[in-house]
Amino acid sequence: MTTPRRLRVDRRLCEGHALCLQSAPEIFILSDDDVAECVAQPSNDQWDQAAAAIDACPRGAIALVEDLKGQPVR
Ligand code: SF4
Repeated sequence: MTTPRRLRVDRRLCEGHALCLQSAPEIFILSDDDVAECVAQPSNDQWDQAAAAIDACPRGAIALVEDLKGQPVR
């Protein structure tokens, strides 16, 4: 059994480069104040995109964290 995971953007680190949107446009948006937001958790076939977004972020602002609520990733 795998541990549930989810993506999280650290607003303090994000500088709005939007490279994450290029890698995973269905997962991230840029808010009105130019900070990336994770609007959907990756589906099973989107984890490669999510990993690419994490790698692309020059600020290291995207983290993959354990879902403390134990909710399965949808
Ligand atoms: S690539 Fe990183 S710094 Fe740029 S918008 Fe996405 S999370 Fe923010």
